[in-house]
Amino acid sequence: MFEDADEETLAAISQWREKPAQHQPAWPDPAALEDAVAYLRSLPPLVFAGEADQLTSEMAAASRGEAFVLMGGDCAESFADSSADRIRARIRTILQMAVVLTYGASVPVVKIGRMAGQFAKPRSNPLETFGGVTLPSYMGDAVNGYEFTAEARTPDPHRLVEAYQRSASTLNLMRAFSTGGFADLTAVHEWNKGFMANPAYARYEQFASEIDRAMRFMRAAGVDMDNLRTVDLYSSHEALLLPYEDAMTRIDSRTGEPYNTSAHLLWIGERTRDIGGAHVEMLSHVSNPIGVKLGPTTTPQDALALVDKLNPEGIPGKLTFITRMGAGKIREALPPLVEAIRQDGRPVTWVTDPMHGNTITASNGLKTRRLSAIVEEIDGFFTVHQDLGTHPGGIHVELTGGDVTEVLGGSEEISEDGLGERYETLVDPRLNHQQSLEMAFLLAEQLRD
Ligand code: PEP
Ligand code: MN
Repeated sequence: MFEDADEETLAAISQWREKPAQHQPAWPDPAALEDAVAYLRSLPPLVFAGEADQLTSEMAAASRGEAFVLMGGDCAESFADSSADRIRARIRTILQMAVVLTYGASVPVVKIGRMAGQFAKPRSNPLETFGGVTLPSYMGDAVNGYEFTAEARTPDPHRLVEAYQRSASTLNLMRAFSTGGFADLTAVHEWNKGFMANPAYARYEQFASEIDRAMRFMRAAGVDMDNLRTVDLYSSHEALLLPYEDAMTRIDSRTGEPYNTSAHLLWIGERTRDIGGAHVEMLSHVSNPIGVKLGPTTTPQDALALVDKLNPEGIPGKLTFITRMGAGKIREALPPLVEAIRQDGRPVTWVTDPMHGNTITASNGLKTRRLSAIVEEIDGFFTVHQDLGTHPGGIHVELTGGDVTEVLGGSEEISEDGLGERYETLVDPRLNHQQSLEMAFLLAEQLRD
């Protein structure tokens, strides 16, 4: 399916090498990095051009208000947590949220995992000091180890190859779970098993019973149920590590166009979205749907320059802006951007990331977020779009399928004292399963209004 490109296309793909690249690890052995990248280049693509194109058309529907995007997963996936059980739990959380949104708001949900490749992190500080010792910060399992030792923290290019392998096995499970019966809507009750009784689960049970009744009715009425048995679940991650992403960029033999085959959708982080930087340059040459995180300092000129660079022709669904303003800022910071894009006329899919602008440090020093602030930012996002007559296209959240205690609040209140109980994240605090479901019910109400 992928073949060698013409000279001009290859030169375009390589232009990022001429640009400044932020947040790259200091690889100690350039020859070992070259070897790893050459090996990656010889490995098969993880996703296919046609799948990426299908996601582009679904993102386009979301930009028109005809679908809603649900992007979710870990802040940073880890090799240790890419076991079948952990992956299944995360997928189940995403599917349950999607059911709540689809049934509660009667809207098709575009499901995208922040998974099968989310192994690299930009860090505010490239170094970390602990007990008088200074070492490179943890940059994700694709780069170095979390353990605070010189050995673990030294960037190791073999980890890029392991990131590819973990991504491949995760994607394999995602594909199996989304078509092999696990995602069958006739089994919506099954997904709720194993969780303790609480308001969000009880509400979900009621939804599941209503869905069951609707399904029995449809079956009795002779409706073809086949498309209720499978779902499309896409993969996404932050395209941070340029040599890895370059090695995974291949030419689609049908069209001659380059695609990044490491995930269906790639996004550029708030810290690497510089218009003259290597990350924007790299993703400007691939045909995948692209996301860009926009923080509160983004100007309308920044947003328009990104459209010029990443979607000059205005292809619907090609470009998604994932805003992460903070609950206290979104009502002021978002309208000028939405207004400028509307006037420009080229379509953008607007997604809210209500997590990254709301990170705080608890009194015990743990990084956390308040569910109330997250909900407040979502509310601001809907209000802004409602006021301007534009479409709130989706949500991007950090979540996990387990019962962690990382985000404050929720109907089974997690307090500052309780944070330490099951605080398992390696980087940012994630919604637990129950908080994720609660959020889905709130979103369904917003979408229905
Ligand atoms: C992230 O999504 O984990 C992240 C680092 O976000 P941002 O680029 O918005 O800061
Ligand atoms: Mn994060």
